[in-house]
Amino acid sequence: MGYDTIVEDNIDVLVVGAGLGGTGAAFEARYWGKDKKIVIAEKANIDRSGAVAQGLYAINCYMGTRFGENNPEDHVRYARMDLMGMVREDLLFDMARHVDSAVHQFEEWGLPLMINPKTGTYQREGRWQIMIHGESYKPIVAEAAKKAADKVFNRICVTHLLMDDNKENRVAGAVGFNVRTGNYHVFKSKTVVVGAGGASNIYKPRSVGEGAGRVWYAPWSSGSAYGLMIEAGAKMTQMENKIVLCRFKDGYGPVGAYFLHLKTYTQNAAGEEYESKWFPALSEMVGKEYLDTENQHLSHKPIPTCLRNHAFINEVNAGRGPIYMVTKEAFQDPHLEEIGWHNFLGMTVGQAVLWAATDVDPKYENPELTTSEPYVMGSHATGCGAWCSGPKDVSPKEYYWGYNRMTSVQGLFGCGDAVGGTPHAFSSGSFTEGRLAAKAAVEYVNDGKADGIKVSDEQIDKRKEQIYKPMETYNVYRNAITAGSVNPHYINPRQGLDRLQKLMDEYCGGVTVSYMTNGNLLKIGLKKLGLLVEDWEDGIAAENVHELLRAWELRHRILTSESVIQHTLFREETRWPGYYYRGDFMKLDDQNWHVLTVSHRDPKTGEYTMEKAPLYHLTEDEDKEEAA
Ligand code: AMP
Repeated sequence: MGYDTIVEDNIDVLVVGAGLGGTGAAFEARYWGKDKKIVIAEKANIDRSGAVAQGLYAINCYMGTRFGENNPEDHVRYARMDLMGMVREDLLFDMARHVDSAVHQFEEWGLPLMINPKTGTYQREGRWQIMIHGESYKPIVAEAAKKAADKVFNRICVTHLLMDDNKENRVAGAVGFNVRTGNYHVFKSKTVVVGAGGASNIYKPRSVGEGAGRVWYAPWSSGSAYGLMIEAGAKMTQMENKIVLCRFKDGYGPVGAYFLHLKTYTQNAAGEEYESKWFPALSEMVGKEYLDTENQHLSHKPIPTCLRNHAFINEVNAGRGPIYMVTKEAFQDPHLEEIGWHNFLGMTVGQAVLWAATDVDPKYENPELTTSEPYVMGSHATGCGAWCSGPKDVSPKEYYWGYNRMTSVQGLFGCGDAVGGTPHAFSSGSFTEGRLAAKAAVEYVNDGKADGIKVSDEQIDKRKEQIYKPMETYNVYRNAITAGSVNPHYINPRQGLDRLQKLMDEYCGGVTVSYMTNGNLLKIGLKKLGLLVEDWEDGIAAENVHELLRAWELRHRILTSESVIQHTLFREETRWPGYYYRGDFMKLDDQNWHVLTVSHRDPKTGEYTMEKAPLYHLTEDEDKEEAA
């Protein structure tokens, strides 16, 4: 197609995607690998990329161990409870024991952390969250990664991982194209750390048409972390554990600072508290272990995120919506009013703009809340991602195969949303995971595990042909276009995305079906997805380089979606009411499903195999720990 091929050779650690996870990886790779060649490939620009691009108002994962606030074990217990038991405790503990040092570094690098004037320590928003002036959080952290890396390639959409031609199941780099120049980029590398983010926009969003792109998670998060790893044959875990979030309506403004710091609360249209009404029936569904409504003192605090969603969704479905956030009381305090606005101006400016544009002043009017469409991610309150090795000192044998955060593909590591079973990492925990992954990647190289890697010209040429095929398709068939964008020979990326979002929504528990699905629906969804895959492969067309980007993002979203449907079909229970429901198995079933789910897609045939993996509780319950 006339595009140049640019080859970057002899890389030791290639970081794919430089959000908070990837920046942590580059930084730490340099610490352990002074002599190593470290390269970053980033789809946007590292200064403003990833979920933190717009800024953040809080760091949601900080133990405060030096102030005697929490221990890593406390955080494992919290995340375990919030996820209805389903977490990788080894990975969580490992992240939690290192996360504070990452936060202290951010402060050294110039991130303004708020200080509580009474205690002189960091201003807490909640037990795990500390407040920051974080509009420039990402550029500050990016600077450290830029200094650490030998080269940063911005504007590169990585489409595939390269595999070693000498040894099965060993990674050898990645390929992609520059979204501005169109040039083909080849990165030959001994290891790859994938930090390319979770997936938004695989489900039909509530905001469509002129509001498209107004979603909660970064709209450009195309599930590339999952798409790249799945296609390379990496095992995945907990992909059924998609997340639904309670958010301010239409601007998708987060609620954490409001609930936790401003102490606002919700009520239904009649001004009533509604949550507790739903808990007795919910306790029947999930069991007393998770929600003991008779012995309130034993009941978990805070209530797991999904269960709070469940009450919200059911109250709305009972006709008593909308659900309001009661801000009128808190906003009478000028300090809290200021915090309420600052929270959005530094993090989700669209929410503040939307309120201004629609005459909503939270001081005089309680704003509406909504529940979002589902997202697939592993760093907020759910744990989708790759099945990764844990650290040697804490992981049982089923969770350990040599290198921390290495996937089931040799030399392929993950961080942030890419790693499964590690929810509640948020920004700081993702950065920490990047550090842990890169440290292990350097060790892998030093141990000679990448010796003898070979990438044939054939593999590189084959990928090039594949990558630009959508542009060829467009050129061949462009004369048949009617009605602006309709063509009997192909679909364009927007048409493909609309189809994907509709089928995920209707068959895999999106908003229009109130997050409900069942085995039959999922099987129909898989069939329809198969047809979409065929249409993508035979005839997706890209008019220009920008559409080529959209075509490959769609490819990653499709691979992610297939994994989500397969996992949702496999887990025959409703483990997280409020995230999704299996109508044919409406109860939590600990007898059969107190396990982690692991999938493998055969890279040659595309066939899926699913298995159950043991769920080890490595951290004692608090009462047992105290007794000991
Ligand atoms: P969010 O602003 O919703 O993304 O959440 C930020 C942080 O606050 C996360 O650690 C959430 O788990 C936590 N959070 C949000 N809402 C609540 C709530 N009602 N109770 C306890 N924790 C919450």
